[in-house]
Amino acid sequence: MLVGGIEAGGTKIVYGTAEVDGKEIHILERKEMPTDESSAVIDKLNLYFKEKEITSLGLASFGPLELNKNSSDYGMVMGTPKKGWDQVPFGAALKEYLHIPVEIDTDVNAAAMAEVVYGAGKGSESLVYITVGTGIGMGLWVNGAPVHGLLHPEAGHMGIVRHEKDHFAGICPFHVDKFGQSFCLEGVAAGPAIEKRWGRPGKELSENAAVWEMEADYLAQGIANLILVISPEKIILGGGVMHQKELFPLIHLKVQDKLGGYIHRKEILTDIDSYIVPPELGDNAGIMGAFLLAQKRI
Ligand code: ZN
Repeated sequence: MLVGGIEAGGTKIVYGTAEVDGKEIHILERKEMPTDESSAVIDKLNLYFKEKEITSLGLASFGPLELNKNSSDYGMVMGTPKKGWDQVPFGAALKEYLHIPVEIDTDVNAAAMAEVVYGAGKGSESLVYITVGTGIGMGLWVNGAPVHGLLHPEAGHMGIVRHEKDHFAGICPFHVDKFGQSFCLEGVAAGPAIEKRWGRPGKELSENAAVWEMEADYLAQGIANLILVISPEKIILGGGVMHQKELFPLIHLKVQDKLGGYIHRKEILTDIDSYIVPPELGDNAGIMGAFLLAQKRI
């Protein structure tokens, strides 16, 4: 059965087709385009998929997204500061043009699902997938299903304690303290925050240890909080910023330090390098998740 998949991220859109046979998914075509203004992106996707005769489509998108299937706004991108994307009926625009079922979830929930089915979290009942890039997104897989709820988890915006040496204002316009400084994780630790604070993009700052000590400190705060709240069996850290390889060992040490020996599990105390890991599906986690969403609708 031929299905389509879309992973819509803050910077780029990955889309393509796959052949689905039971639990097997074979990617047939994988394409990318920049996340331009919404109408141009949606037109291009509709024209592409119209020619493919797919049975169903999975949409794994950045949010905030309406995921309540009983809502007339199901699949709408809402309240995003992203230019040209606020109040855009992303899912409905595809469904109405293509006349096929469209299954929708957040990009990070879809990536979490793909890592549970095919990747580093194979067989986990609970897993957190964190992407650190243009923003910080967190997908939660708990008791064998993605977490939705009131909206869907937005743990990238959880409050954190600012690093003692950080005097940068931050980049989140929503979570700002009385001194005008962002106090949420995304505001101080997403890729654009690194670039603005240090004056250069992260990939040009590999040699600067202070950059990664601060970055690891912030990410470890977020991860320690998630361990305390969700108690996941596996944590996966992906996204462009995580290509900076020295981050993983720093994060491992800092998560242990912040938990202070309180969680008595070998995954934290001795085996943390196999507990907090990169995605096994690499940059295909999101699009594989989109194909899995499409498969759900066959
Ligand atoms: Zn925020």
